[in-house]
Amino acid sequence: MDEIKPTVKPERLEKGALKREAVLLEAMVRDYCKRHHNDPKGLCDDCRAFLVYALTRLACCPYGEKKPTCAKCKIHCYRAQEKETVRVIMREEGPRMLFQHPILTTEHLIKNLKEAPEKPRNRLAKKKEVDHGR
Ligand code: SF4
Ligand SMILES: [Zn+2]
Repeated sequence: MDEIKPTVKPERLEKGALKREAVLLEAMVRDYCKRHHNDPKGLCDDCRAFLVYALTRLACCPYGEKKPTCAKCKIHCYRAQEKETVRVIMREEGPRMLFQHPILTTEHLIKNLKEAPEKPRNRLAKKKEVDHGR
């Protein structure tokens, strides 16, 4: 199985919560593609492009380890088309993943019960605030 990586910051998906999300995301897209598109390459071009996009959003997620589920997020960084794609994939794959990846899926379901934290502030904005407070 060929490795699919985000276009930027791949190191952010190598450990912790973002890695676990990346594993689940990839499993869902691959399973969905296999059932719907059955491409001899393993992953069709559209699903591959979507997976690269979604992994790149994940790698750039400003919440990092505190990432909520995307459904609860107050930022919503996905473009409209990909947001619809992930909604369709997750609706079908959610129940299937409970059997294939029970621990990761349970973690996701628990997270989905929680409210998202406030939007993380970027470091520059924080620094300006500190400077002005001097
Ligand atoms: S939608 Fe929100 S939680 Fe999901 S990757 Fe984008 S910023 Fe992070
Ligand atoms: Zn596909």
